[in-house]
Amino acid sequence: MTLSINCKDAGDPVCTHTMLGETEEELLQNAKEHGIKVHGYTEEQWNEEISKNLEHFRKIIKKT
Ligand SMILES: [Zn+2]
Repeated sequence: MTLSINCKDAGDPVCTHTMLGETEEELLQNAKEHGIKVHGYTEEQWNEEISKNLEHFRKIIKKT
């Protein structure tokens, strides 16, 4: 099973990058790397964002 999140579903107006992972942990790690590299988050800002929006993130995870 592959878990994925699309950046657009996560609330970004323009980015349509899809992040993948085999576990939720791996997916969130990949999303974090993408957020830092592409969207200019610092690790601290990202962790704060995730802790606020984890429920939303879980809802938009697609399982294929
Ligand atoms: Zn993105």
